[in-house]
Amino acid sequence: MMLSIDERESLMDYVTQLQSHQLKVTPQRLEIVDILTRYGHVSIEELYAKLQDKFPTLSLATIYKNLKMMQERSFLSEVKLAHQKSVFELQKEEHAHLVCSSCGAIVDISLDASTLISYAQSKSSYTIDYSTINLYGTCAKCQ
Ligand SMILES: [Zn+2]
Ligand SMILES: [Zn+2]
Repeated sequence: MMLSIDERESLMDYVTQLQSHQLKVTPQRLEIVDILTRYGHVSIEELYAKLQDKFPTLSLATIYKNLKMMQERSFLSEVKLAHQKSVFELQKEEHAHLVCSSCGAIVDISLDASTLISYAQSKSSYTIDYSTINLYGTCAKCQ
């Protein structure tokens, strides 16, 4: 298979990214990283469908195991959503999600939740170690 220079560079980049999280580099994982890089937020079923071309024998269970491992190494994160299946994304800086209730489109919006978290802590006896913020509405296309 002939790769363009761009493809080869991003492939090297994916190798480095996986290795920096102590993850073994496999062709399947490289493809998962490529899909997440290109599409942003992807459900396991969508990943499975997109991986079928290159890896027709790859099972949903194997993809799931890979995702779990990549999540444990803080390489990926799972975004749990109301009324629709979880999606996976590459770990990035803190952000919230805008979710279209009509078509399910998901957009990242950078957000620092520290003010909200310290407010919540000051108003309660909780120490907060995790937060996820999803805002639901209607995207421009669906309006
Ligand atoms: Zn929409
Ligand atoms: Zn996101």
